[in-house]
Amino acid sequence: MPRNCRSVHLPDPAPMPEPEAAPGCDVCAALARQREAARAIGDTTTVIDRNIELRRHPHGTVVRT
Ligand SMILES: [Zn+2]
Repeated sequence: MPRNCRSVHLPDPAPMPEPEAAPGCDVCAALARQREAARAIGDTTTVIDRNIELRRHPHGTVVRT
């Protein structure tokens, strides 16, 4: 009996984990606050923009291999 391999369809079209604000970083904290404010008014575009900025914000002390 042949087995069909089907891809699973997730209900969420864009499942993307949100970045966390780096501890002690004022810029990240401000971005996170703006993200929550945008989410509160349903401004998804701004939420995504802030997530991108949070991901890209450099923290020179973080060195991982
Ligand atoms: Zn930061």
